[in-house]
Amino acid sequence: MDFLRPTTWAEALAAKADQPEAVPLQGGTDVMVEINFAVRRPPALLDLTRVAELREWSVAGGECTIGAGVPYRVVVEELGGVVPGLAQAARTVGSPQIRNRGTVGGNLGAASPAGDSHPPLLAAGAVIEVESRDGGVRLIPAAEFYLGVKRSALRPDELIRAVRVPSAPGPQYFSKVGTRNAMVIAVCSFAVALDPARRRVGTGIGSAAPTPRRAEEAEDLLARELDWDAPALDPSLAARFGRLCARAAAPIDDVRGTAAYRLHAVEVMARRTLTWAWNDHLGRRAA
Ligand SMILES: Cc1cc2nc3c(=O)[nH]c(=O)nc-3n(C[C@H](O)[C@H](O)[C@H](O)COP(=O)(O)OP(=O)(O)OC[C@H]3O[C@@H](n4cnc5c(N)ncnc54)[C@H](O)[C@@H]3O)c2cc1C
Repeated sequence: MDFLRPTTWAEALAAKADQPEAVPLQGGTDVMVEINFAVRRPPALLDLTRVAELREWSVAGGECTIGAGVPYRVVVEELGGVVPGLAQAARTVGSPQIRNRGTVGGNLGAASPAGDSHPPLLAAGAVIEVESRDGGVRLIPAAEFYLGVKRSALRPDELIRAVRVPSAPGPQYFSKVGTRNAMVIAVCSFAVALDPARRRVGTGIGSAAPTPRRAEEAEDLLARELDWDAPALDPSLAARFGRLCARAAAPIDDVRGTAAYRLHAVEVMARRTLTWAWNDHLGRRAA
């Protein structure tokens, strides 16, 4: 097996262009498990850990750009104020060791329907920045990135450079159901993001369909009927929101849970996260 070790982004893109079958390696918390369990035996590994620019993040123009090599620990410790939904999700990933190595870029590269980054990225309207030596930069909205189970819009010669997440314009929440409280793959998960200025609510559903996905009908319901100046959230509207979120899911029965349980859990999480976010919105309005 070849082991490619570029030290610059340009070198990494050149290596991927010359050897598209090379498997990128960031934190290795997915890739090394697969290699150790002989799930795959790639002809080459493309180690990106020496590419310094991938470990950078910045905030400018109302947007937070998070390099593909930024570990969850940094998202939790440094980005909670600017992308709170993603930081909440990052806090639930694995253990301190996994959060120290694992990255949002790797979560996107793996494109598992159960990846915890995906619901908050969908809810916030994030954009994935990918690049290839010969094709240049492509900006892919999160809603168009996930194509199937562990399949994404990334082309064989492309690498993920960063994810661009709008700086939160309002409250955001992430909720995850697992078979225990920590070190657990989501049975299902849900994220909500409020944008009071645009009067929109974004959603993201995880581990309850072949891909992470938005609940568009539920978003449209709130765009039509949510009274942003009301003193309280109408409980019947929140309940309808929950039901429409569940309707957007298409779960299966598997070792972690049944489809019926997942539908119920998505409905409950959607209602609850909307209520938590709304209460924060009320608090900010009053302040
Ligand atoms: C014990 C344990 C617990 C875990 N718990 C969770 C959890 O709670 N929630 C969760 O979501 N995940 C969990 N995971 C899975 C894993 O940690 C995450 O998916 C993590 O985000 C992967 O990031 P990484 O940097 O380690 O990726 P890697 O393993 O390096 O790569 C993952 C995939 O992305 C590709 N890739 C990496 N970087 C790039 C790039 N720049 N461009 C293109 N492709 C790229 C790789 O080729 C590979 O296909 C867990 C894993 C373990 C071992």
